[in-house]
Amino acid sequence: MDKDKKIPLFFHEKYGSYRFGKLHPFDPERFPKFIGAVKKEEKMSSEVDILESPSVDDKVLRTVHTSEYIKKVEQMERVGGALTMDTPVKKGSPEAARHIVGGSLEAAKAINEKGYEMVINLGGLHHAGPNYGEGFCMFNDVAVAARYLADQGKKVIVFDTDAHQGNGTMDIFLKDPNVLFISIHQDPSTLYPGRGYIQEIGEGEGKGFTVNIPMPRDANITEYHHAIEEVVKPLVEQFSPEVLIRNGGSDPHHADSLTDLALDMRGLKYLGEVSRTMAHDAGAGYMDLMLSGYGRRVLEGWKAITIGSLGIDIPLPTDQKIGKIGYEPKRELVEKLNGLKKILSGHWDF
Ligand SMILES: [Zn+2]
Repeated sequence: MDKDKKIPLFFHEKYGSYRFGKLHPFDPERFPKFIGAVKKEEKMSSEVDILESPSVDDKVLRTVHTSEYIKKVEQMERVGGALTMDTPVKKGSPEAARHIVGGSLEAAKAINEKGYEMVINLGGLHHAGPNYGEGFCMFNDVAVAARYLADQGKKVIVFDTDAHQGNGTMDIFLKDPNVLFISIHQDPSTLYPGRGYIQEIGEGEGKGFTVNIPMPRDANITEYHHAIEEVVKPLVEQFSPEVLIRNGGSDPHHADSLTDLALDMRGLKYLGEVSRTMAHDAGAGYMDLMLSGYGRRVLEGWKAITIGSLGIDIPLPTDQKIGKIGYEPKRELVEKLNGLKKILSGHWDF
């Protein structure tokens, strides 16, 4: 493997057409703005190669979505409509989503076929399920990439660190033991999508291969570090993935306008850092996907995650410091994790 290869960062200017309307919290300007910021930051731009994401056809989308659902989206684009109240289908959005899917698929191929150790895409449409789209998500690029890798015989972990649980990805791989889906998210009793309780561990052959870690409101780096050490790391070690995909943007940040978690910029950096380190220690390829985040600190949050995942030494965006690794985590979390480990102990060593 060529260690001198730059890390592919997938993007297409059409990402900027992934839109829901002017007053909607998802601002598509995030995509070109982030690419602009990367280009300006010498230490970041020297690490990555910005590559163009291709579009994908229906055949690719059908690896995770039903034909009926794909047709429904295209029809809504023509006549107007919405998948759910918060997810209208605007002109150009489905094509933008196809490029986002293409970016994640190319990223997976760069690992599988070209020997890259790490790849990045501005993706993570994890609320789109087999026959539904919601939560600002139309087509599930995370699932398309994981499906492709699993079909190539690879053992895949999807580590979803978005503040919202990844219900779409979970449903797509619910019965599949080849993809271990681990989601760490705000307690679903307090946040959309209202799924991802510890009891949800997969079905049939896939039982034990879905793991949900609900975090209490105001969870900070202390709680995240504790949960990852106690549950995620042992799972990664036991499953021994060949590829680890992390998805999730800045929405676990304390200033996010839609969520109630409390990671600071160090916490977001930690998510990137620990994910890449877990992949590296397992000898697995690493895919990093970022797309979410609401409010004013999205780009800074993405930057913090990327500083962590690339392992580069540049100053983090300024922020208050909340919590510290090694402090005592909230009692509520410790009890929740004990319950989760008990449920998982029929499938994994805990
Ligand atoms: Zn989210």
